[in-house]
Amino acid sequence: MNRFILRIEKEIISVCKYLAEKEYIVGTDGNVSVRVDDTKMVITPKAKSKLNLKPDDLVIIDFEGKKIKGFNEPSGEWRVHSMIYRFRQDVNAVIHTHPTYSTVSSVAGVRFDKVVLPEIIVSVGNIAVVEYGTLYTEDLAKKVQKYVQDNNAFILKNHGLVTVGEDIKTALYRTEKVEHLSKVIIIAKLLGSIDYLTDSQVEEISKLVK
Ligand SMILES: [Zn+2]
Repeated sequence: MNRFILRIEKEIISVCKYLAEKEYIVGTDGNVSVRVDDTKMVITPKAKSKLNLKPDDLVIIDFEGKKIKGFNEPSGEWRVHSMIYRFRQDVNAVIHTHPTYSTVSSVAGVRFDKVVLPEIIVSVGNIAVVEYGTLYTEDLAKKVQKYVQDNNAFILKNHGLVTVGEDIKTALYRTEKVEHLSKVIIIAKLLGSIDYLTDSQVEEISKLVK
């Protein structure tokens, strides 16, 4: 068990450093968690830079938010993480960031329901745009919950991005993929118009991932 927790802590610390260095999060923003079992997760602490976290900075909480281990308070967004683990047994990692292009998309009302890049169908799946909710609240978790079954990425209106995965690497790749997609969409919009894939083109790709 301890070795398992230690591995999770190392993974979270290295992903957080990467996210901070890529400026997917700035200041003390962002939060990352990994599921321990059916009732608990390891999560990043509240209001701390993610650049140089130490294992002791991380917190173990149950899905009600009760602290089981750690000196710090858990991230204020623990409710979103907890809801996702409850509703998605296949998810073992959740990453919440504020990457520039995804955040711009969330502010500018960019839609993600039409397919622009074929790779996204394969590596991310559906991307939801979640109605605005106040950060740290149960209300925000409830709003994400509406989309949790059918999507692996969630653009939070006027806020940022949440991605999930069966492991932390998958959740991280999805963060990078959605940020790249957002950048492509925004630049394409600046140039003029966007050519979307047709339904039959999407169907062809969907067959590959079934
Ligand atoms: Zn946030």
